[in-house]
Amino acid sequence: EAARTAYAAKRPRSAALHEQALEVLAGGNTRTVIAYGPFPTAMTRGEDCRLWDLDDHAYLDLCGEYTAGLFGHSEPRIHAVLHDVLRRGINFASVGPGEEKLARIVCARFPSIDRVRFTNSGTEGNLMALTAARAFTGRDKIMAFRGGYHGGVLTFPAAGSSPSTLPLPFVLADYNDNDSAIAVARAHAKDLAAIIVEPMQGSGGCLPARPDFLATLRDLANETGAVLIFDEVMTSRHSGGGMQARLGITPDMTTLGKYIAGGMSFGAFGGRADIMAQFGGKLSHAGTFNNNVLSMSAGGVAMGEIFTAEVAEAHFQRGEALRARLDDIGAAKGLPLCFTGLGSMMTVQFRTPAPDRPFVPTAREEQLRELFFFDMLEAGIYLARRGMVALSLPVGDADLDRFVAAVAAFADNRAELL
Ligand code: PLP
Repeated sequence: EAARTAYAAKRPRSAALHEQALEVLAGGNTRTVIAYGPFPTAMTRGEDCRLWDLDDHAYLDLCGEYTAGLFGHSEPRIHAVLHDVLRRGINFASVGPGEEKLARIVCARFPSIDRVRFTNSGTEGNLMALTAARAFTGRDKIMAFRGGYHGGVLTFPAAGSSPSTLPLPFVLADYNDNDSAIAVARAHAKDLAAIIVEPMQGSGGCLPARPDFLATLRDLANETGAVLIFDEVMTSRHSGGGMQARLGITPDMTTLGKYIAGGMSFGAFGGRADIMAQFGGKLSHAGTFNNNVLSMSAGGVAMGEIFTAEVAEAHFQRGEALRARLDDIGAAKGLPLCFTGLGSMMTVQFRTPAPDRPFVPTAREEQLRELFFFDMLEAGIYLARRGMVALSLPVGDADLDRFVAAVAAFADNRAELL
């Protein structure tokens, strides 16, 4: 409570903006994940990996826009292409070379993608991939996993039933549990159109899928004839060709999103040529902004020139090294404090051993998460409210040292609560 009060006292302008927003925005904003109490911090300016809020506090940005902010706030090559596009115009209602160029890069990079189509968000990419799978198989049901997140209307809690009202016949299995996946897939084998999975549950707490679990899903898709979809909206950054290339397990379809358009709005779905061929004929996929030239052009530069396969690999290794340092802090003190994740994405956990399956956090864990978030803000470090870090490319070694020191201070100052 003291941390909340101190937070609120220092941010009168963010508090006032929140009050005004409640008058016109349902819930006070348009993104549930950033609608935390007592009111969200309003950011007004960014540069490299720094942010400034409405009350003029400066932060090291380790939230990285939930992985979409991979390039930071002022990558000059992305700014240059955007300025060039704006000079030429943006609303042509036509195809263009930027779209073809980005598609060529995506198809070359991701092993499962023979053909791709673009959308405005990861959510739409997943909805279209599920549509394609259902049309291709002539079947209805979709197997998804508890704790998974595939977009606003595709949210699957770790326990209990989904609040989604989407009229799709989902059957749910337990993540990282081969027996559960086998039982559910076989029970619905004849009706199963798709199996959709995140190679690492991102929103669910940066919980990597075990390779043998993903291999089991590959076998189950072969056995049942269902289309295996990897939702790599977040994990595609984990190598030049995403987790599928890292693990050597190739799904039938893949969905993408987040950073790929250099920070512009983006989503995509792609896969085997025979599945995607439906879009030449029987399936329609329109969308005014699907190929908007800002996203297409920025994406070509972001993926073609900046986030090359080599850069992706180096960024992954950097994150692995950071997580090892962070894990040493709790281990050295014997505290239940660790970080789950892979590469440049990680989430703080207040239980040991590190969880490898989705779980419902205890009230104590919820409180510690909130305290951790406020303590990091106090130290001038901005994370996702749930304690997730997504490193952007401009984050430097001194920034990482600063974060490690802030986590060590948290472990010291809050030891009695842990
Ligand atoms: N899939 C995964 C794995 C995600 O993490 C997200 C967003 O966080 C989405 C899909 C939805 O993407 P978007 O927010 O662009 O709709």
